[in-house]
Amino acid sequence: MKKFISAFLAAVVFIAVLSSFSSCEKNEEKEYFDANFIAMDTAVTVRLARNSGKKDGRKIIYFDDAYLNEIKQNCADIAKEIEASLSRTIDGSIVSYINKETDCVLDIDGDFISLLNESFELSENTGGAFNITLGTLTELWNITGDTHRVPSAEEISDALSHTGNDKITVGASDVKKSDRKLKIDLGAIGKGYALEKITEYLESTDVLYGLVSFGGNVSVFGSKEIKGTKDEESQKYKIGITDPLDTSKVVGYVYIDSGYVSVSGDYERYFEENGIRYHHIFDPETGYPADSGLSSVAVICSDASTADALSTALFVMGYEKALDFYKSEKYDFEAVFTKKDGTTLLTSGLSESGMFEEYVEEPAEPANTD
Ligand code: AMP
Ligand code: MG
Repeated sequence: MKKFISAFLAAVVFIAVLSSFSSCEKNEEKEYFDANFIAMDTAVTVRLARNSGKKDGRKIIYFDDAYLNEIKQNCADIAKEIEASLSRTIDGSIVSYINKETDCVLDIDGDFISLLNESFELSENTGGAFNITLGTLTELWNITGDTHRVPSAEEISDALSHTGNDKITVGASDVKKSDRKLKIDLGAIGKGYALEKITEYLESTDVLYGLVSFGGNVSVFGSKEIKGTKDEESQKYKIGITDPLDTSKVVGYVYIDSGYVSVSGDYERYFEENGIRYHHIFDPETGYPADSGLSSVAVICSDASTADALSTALFVMGYEKALDFYKSEKYDFEAVFTKKDGTTLLTSGLSESGMFEEYVEEPAEPANTD
């Protein structure tokens, strides 16, 4: 059941992406091969160009389903392999070993160590807003689980006492914990990381261009120039950003021809009690769901795990602090912020580039008075 709910929620973000995308590609359905799979409790879709392009001069050759299915399967295998080491709930994952009441885990593979180091750097650079040591807290709240409830203040402060980057040390192939109860949670960066690995793989295949949607994370790869159009605008993909106040709508569209978009929102995973929404993005200072005035943040960046981590961090910071962070130029990114009151705000690079188009609702048809 949990899996189904998560997959459905993720699909909502994705539908916004694809429906806007297909409106860009009228009458060209055959240009793409679409395939879906589930990984990390999330619906993943790969959209691959069938056109193999350059062969035989101007003659267009199409990849067949068997070939593209094989590529899709390889993408699913990459995601599954990453999930098998990053998941908190899969027995035998590296994260589950680290999360046992232990003070040391040895022989950890290099990719995982790099991801941990990248995560701690992101945590430091975001002033702790992004924090992968919140495992005891996220487990306590268990937002998407059957046993979710609002914990007591004592429980929250106890969980918080087992968090903190200073309680864990990453070596060349090992992790040491000074607090045996500390647990890590890579939920805010794992999908971005997996998306990046999938996209890197796709770039190494003969597929010329396409798109991958992994929950709230989207990648655009390759070049649409092969379609024969030199018009820069038509080489771009139109990515719909879900309206957090009405998830059947979008607040607008981001136009990109490469790179990643990651969205963190209070509508993605949550439960409600006494009219209050308790969502899955936590303020590491308070131990409660972040109440920063934002409902969603979309980050556009050339690096997927950075985009994923930053969308979570900026959500925690709130608009003002997030804007200061943007101006600090620690990372090269753009962002779309949607406040709880529905206002949508953009970083300056995004508004100046014209890469964002606000969604404007069509006025209702006037009533026929004849
Ligand atoms: P995202 O949807 O990418 O914003 O990630 C949210 C997920 O990351 C949650 O479901 C938690 O597992 C975890 N998480 C929640 N709050 C934080 C935080 N402040 N820093 C890092 N990870 C978090
Ligand atoms: Mg994230």
